[in-house]
Amino acid sequence: MPVCCAACSGKAVLKRPKTGDALCRECFFHVFETEIHHTILDANLFTAGETVAIGASGGKDSTVLAYVLKLLNDKYDYGLKLILLSVDEGITGYRDDSLTTVKRNQKQYDLPLKIVSYEELYGWTMDAIVKEIGLKNNCTFCGVFRRQALDRGAVLVEADKIVTGHNADDIAETVLMNVLRGDIARLRRCTSITTGNEGYLPRCKPLKYTYEKEIVMYAYFKKLDYFSTECIYSPNAYRGYARAFLKDLEAIRSSSIIDIIHSGESLSIKKDVKMPTQMTCLQCGYISSNKVCKACVLLEGLNKGLPKLGIGKGLKARQKLVAAGMTLTNTESQSTSTESTAVLNTDKQSLEF
Ligand code: SF4
Ligand code: ZN
Repeated sequence: MPVCCAACSGKAVLKRPKTGDALCRECFFHVFETEIHHTILDANLFTAGETVAIGASGGKDSTVLAYVLKLLNDKYDYGLKLILLSVDEGITGYRDDSLTTVKRNQKQYDLPLKIVSYEELYGWTMDAIVKEIGLKNNCTFCGVFRRQALDRGAVLVEADKIVTGHNADDIAETVLMNVLRGDIARLRRCTSITTGNEGYLPRCKPLKYTYEKEIVMYAYFKKLDYFSTECIYSPNAYRGYARAFLKDLEAIRSSSIIDIIHSGESLSIKKDVKMPTQMTCLQCGYISSNKVCKACVLLEGLNKGLPKLGIGKGLKARQKLVAAGMTLTNTESQSTSTESTAVLNTDKQSLEF
């Protein structure tokens, strides 16, 4: 006997991962999109007239985000100007292929597209960086550069906000990792749906409560065009363990993901949670939480042939730097040292908060 849809009594074709409800395709689309719409409304993410840059990698999350945002913008008349914004890290055989997908999405969704590359912004591709530093700290460089590249791209297209495709699983994983590392400060702010509110370019995560399995299901049933290959330089074993642990928990109890996010949120409602103060980097002029931004510290190390300088292993490197007659001013030196510690503590790839 066919299973009936819990919402319309038609024929169910799937079991919803988040709730276990049997649903037909149309009712699944409806609840999936409506939940994201309510997340946007509840958190007051947008104001009519804003230009919103969608961080688009060609992967499932950002592809679904772009598709659903466009759909909701039209359906509920948000009044937003949407732009796809992609970062080309310069990873042969990975990013070049995923950008081809984004270019197809641009046509399919009829949205403008801006691509910024590490090569043009920093003079380095990730292929070249990996040749220099190997496969251990590559994601630290890539995550820091990507974060700033998105900011720089958003400034170029005059965006008011950036939205990213971080989903509920990503956020729950980050909560778990911060618990495992005992990083209370990050733990208390990693569940925020918007960061950088106090600065000129806030970042939002409209898929914050959307399960990864449902994103895959939605993309599958909607036949969306996305790229699913893993980065060839992806070594992040620690996040991998947190991810595997989370999937085991989800298999036992599907609400685990949302429960973990709520646990993180309950810590963040205390009034004394400090978000990093935003300022402008003295060297490059872009958003930073220190006098010299992480991107500039890392880039300086790379350009001086001392790539470890920026990742907290720099005492000897710093001595070499001074011996080589290269100078850091007192302020730069202090900032660099603070930044180095910060970078060391944040090896979380692109899921950095
Ligand atoms: Fe960059 Fe992600 Fe690849 Fe690491 S795994 S090198 S952060 S694209
Ligand atoms: Zn800078």
